[in-house]
Amino acid sequence: MWQKKPAHDRFGGAVQAYDYVIVGAGSAGCVLANRLTEDGSASALLLEAGGRDRHPLIHIPLGLGRMHARGMFDWGYHTEPEPNLNGRRIEAMRGKVLGGSSSINVMAFTRGHPGDYDRWAQKGALGWSYPDVLPYFKRCETWQDGENAWRGGSGPIGVEWARTKDPLYDAWIAAGKAAGFPATDDYNGHQPEGFGRSQYSIRHGRRSSAATAYLRPALGRTNLTVATGAPATRVLLQGARAVGVEYVKNGQATRIEAAREVILAGGAFNTPQLLMLSGIGPADHLNAIGIRPVIDLPVGRNLQDHLAVFIMFARPTAGPFRDAMRFDRMALAMLRAYLFGTGPATVVPGGLHAFVKSRLDIAVPDIEFMFRGAPFDAHLWFPLVKPAYMDGFGIRPTLLHPDSRGEVRLRSSNPRDPPCITGNFLSAPGDLARLREGFKRAREVANQAPLAPFRGVETAPGAHARSDADIDGWIRSTAITAHHPAGTCAMGLSSDSVLDPELKVRGIERLRVVDASAMPDLVSAHINACVLMMAEKAGDLIMGLKP
Ligand SMILES: Cc1cc2nc3c(=O)[nH]c(=O)nc-3n(C[C@H](O)[C@H](O)[C@H](O)COP(=O)(O)OP(=O)(O)OC[C@H]3O[C@@H](n4cnc5c(N)ncnc54)[C@H](O)[C@@H]3O)c2cc1C
Repeated sequence: MWQKKPAHDRFGGAVQAYDYVIVGAGSAGCVLANRLTEDGSASALLLEAGGRDRHPLIHIPLGLGRMHARGMFDWGYHTEPEPNLNGRRIEAMRGKVLGGSSSINVMAFTRGHPGDYDRWAQKGALGWSYPDVLPYFKRCETWQDGENAWRGGSGPIGVEWARTKDPLYDAWIAAGKAAGFPATDDYNGHQPEGFGRSQYSIRHGRRSSAATAYLRPALGRTNLTVATGAPATRVLLQGARAVGVEYVKNGQATRIEAAREVILAGGAFNTPQLLMLSGIGPADHLNAIGIRPVIDLPVGRNLQDHLAVFIMFARPTAGPFRDAMRFDRMALAMLRAYLFGTGPATVVPGGLHAFVKSRLDIAVPDIEFMFRGAPFDAHLWFPLVKPAYMDGFGIRPTLLHPDSRGEVRLRSSNPRDPPCITGNFLSAPGDLARLREGFKRAREVANQAPLAPFRGVETAPGAHARSDADIDGWIRSTAITAHHPAGTCAMGLSSDSVLDPELKVRGIERLRVVDASAMPDLVSAHINACVLMMAEKAGDLIMGLKP
């Protein structure tokens, strides 16, 4: 069925039926909105709870600092108090704007290890092995160095090398080698392991979000309608078949029909929430909340995220980022970045990622080192008005494959209530020991000779923290996540999975989930590239196409 575009404003409203209704204009939703309407044979409505992505801070790479500090375009979620993290509620940002989290993320573009996808396939995600997904990774990107066997040369997302000129990052690579770790000249290419120069989803000095890369070029299509400020509140079911979506626009509940499919792309917290609000989830939990279960599925279980902890050092001689943070320079730099896509505000203060193995006998890296090129209290400064800060830098060991599993549940049957998120971090026996090992290896790297010209004292946790108990204490009191929640509607073949390998909700017709929820487990990477790949592949699955 082909549904004509409504006569009124694109961002204004809706008609009675579309072929596809997509919930959530984030990383996955924008890809699908583009691909499903590309050949003009089908119509789609894309519903987004947040607003448009007009704000300059979204598009200027360095704008992320202010966006995060002010909680802009964020759902504002936190976990419940985490017993193994000293009862802290862990902040859990999620983008609420066109582009979703790809409009507020840190833009690190990392695919993970081929072994991650082969593991998925072995676990039951048939059709998602590395050879299966590689064409879709390539289709996503225009890599700065051009196409090769691993990289794409003409896709929507621009991927650039880190632009930083700070010599600190060369010293880090040398320090990694001195500590016995490999280096790689392209961690998204033939050598996924080791210390490598960062790659960012940035094109011509501007954030390459899913909205700018995929949605914007499709907005002129008559068969695509986008509704912003339009949170979906329920999937409409007839028996075990999805027939549409209920959503709110301008304070009014509206129902829209999907002639072919409803596709949920609300992200790892909101998609399970919407399924459960629709009666699809753990029957005991739904009954307790007062929702009649339609089907009993482990929706919301299997939540996992990348837990990480910092080690920070003073930097006796200030680096280029602190110089750029002088108020007048930064004001000009922001303007220049916005107008021309050049200058210091297009440079993210990080130039390196390292994916490493803590033991030789494992198939894929289990620890990532992230690098921070500024101290926690970095701020704008100006002579005689506000003093500059003492420069610093850090390394952030991150647990890539936690065994701990959390859960997303409903707080109530009211769609306006935020979901109840339990990370359950460090609840599995080996996780704390592995992160502690990552901490020790990171500290070892940081103390290698090549970093000596840059390294002052260790400012956090400080040289006094030597014993396992000290390190564990530091982890428990400061660890936060890298904002990579996933797995809450995992695909697979077993009864633990919510989706089949074609991302269809088991037992329900015409309903798919395409977002980070669908991952069986976490890959050895920041996960935006993986979500984009999944949505590219889902587009083909939905339309019955081959790569
Ligand atoms: C602060 C931060 C930093 C990050 N840094 C990186 C990084 O450097 N590199 C990397 O690879 N990954 C990073 N990530 C993670 C990555 O961006 C996300 O994993 C990815 O974007 C998730 O894509 P998604 O499609 O699953 O969900 P999202 O992109 O979050 O999209 C979900 C969309 O659905 C909308 N929505 C939700 N519920 C509803 C509803 N009921 N009705 C209508 N709309 C709804 C949301 O508003 C949102 O727009 C980061 C994430 C954050 C938050």
